[in-house]
Amino acid sequence: MITTSGRVSAVLLDIQGTLLAADGSPVPGAGGAVVRLRELGMSVRYVTNIDSVRVTTIVERLRSAGIPAETAEVFSPVSAAKRFLEAHGGPRVHLLVPPEIESEFSAFTRNGRRPEFVIVGDCRDGFTWARLNEAFRVVEDGAEIVALQKGRYFQTPDGDALDTGAFVSALEYASGKQAFVLGKPSTELLRMAIASAHVDPWETIMVGDDVVSDVTGAFTVGCRSVLVRTGKFSLDKLERAEHKPDLLLDSVADLPDALSAL
Ligand SMILES: [Mg+2]
Repeated sequence: MITTSGRVSAVLLDIQGTLLAADGSPVPGAGGAVVRLRELGMSVRYVTNIDSVRVTTIVERLRSAGIPAETAEVFSPVSAAKRFLEAHGGPRVHLLVPPEIESEFSAFTRNGRRPEFVIVGDCRDGFTWARLNEAFRVVEDGAEIVALQKGRYFQTPDGDALDTGAFVSALEYASGKQAFVLGKPSTELLRMAIASAHVDPWETIMVGDDVVSDVTGAFTVGCRSVLVRTGKFSLDKLERAEHKPDLLLDSVADLPDALSAL
């Protein structure tokens, strides 16, 4: 059972590997679990490191998998990046992001003087040598690197694939600079989601399949965590992890029963 007791007012749900499988199909029982959490009076927020698409696309993917979701409930690195840039006074940016999300940054891509930040997201085939080298030169020229997230790899139906972090690390290595990281386990996304639910971290629980991204992120902001044995889950990684989850479940489908027993 959960070692730290107390009521749960808000549930932060990871998406990939927790609610959706690599092929986009739902983890069995995921939709029903979300419905039951709401019936139990808990606020639901989706906190994801998906940085290849717009938030509206994430909402469509959830809904088409039978998982009820509203745009205001989804927190992705793209939402965090916009907030980060607004907090920095609307600086000029250079984009190394997939075409689908470029328009999200249109307010920060004015022509003119040199960019202050290079934004790096999940470009897939767009990570060409030419584009990476162009971004490297902008960084050499004084820009800071902002990583939408720094995941090492993600899962696809035909195997693991290089994630944004691998390319961010290339720019860091070449430039000698460290990127600002917005996705989990960095705390920006979790703090935004918790604030939007108007709850305190101690009343909040983060649920995910990644013991680093999800569990360490939760620990850092002071909320409890649940690790599920789906998606990226690995017993070996759990045993070696610095921060352990408060609860381990076979699947998100078991979550409502576990939380209602508190
Ligand atoms: Mg995940």
